[in-house]
Amino acid sequence: MSEKEKITVEINVSPKELHIEHPTCSRGHSLKCDKVKIHNFSSIKVKAKANGEEGFMYIDPIYGSFDNIIEGMQIPDGVIVELFCPECDESLTISGENCKICSAPMFVFHLPKNSIVEGCLRKGCMFHELKIVNADQQLARLFEERMLL
Ligand SMILES: [Zn+2]
Ligand SMILES: [Zn+2]
Repeated sequence: MSEKEKITVEINVSPKELHIEHPTCSRGHSLKCDKVKIHNFSSIKVKAKANGEEGFMYIDPIYGSFDNIIEGMQIPDGVIVELFCPECDESLTISGENCKICSAPMFVFHLPKNSIVEGCLRKGCMFHELKIVNADQQLARLFEERMLL
């Protein structure tokens, strides 16, 4: 009986350490919600509208993770959600950007140091993109997701 040695190779996938700490609307209102935690981090609270219904959405603050909590409404997968700042009702939809995967509109959260996080507004897609915009080179995309992880 021939013995076959099995070698198990374990690959450590680095945990999703990047989480969104200080998201705001474009006017600087904090969207951070300490009351509702997701993965032990403060969630991101926004007002949501979809299919004529209105409610709140607590967004998973971990970049690339999508364990969002929806409150007061039902959003079926595939539906495009509109997000608003709960404080000033500003639409968080970014104009001129569309999801690279499903071409739905995108939302934007502003972060310190001229960073923004964009995300797909289609429930069930939720593609994320993180951009760091240098103040000297406005809108120049300096780093993409992989360089930060
Ligand atoms: Zn606001
Ligand atoms: Zn999408």
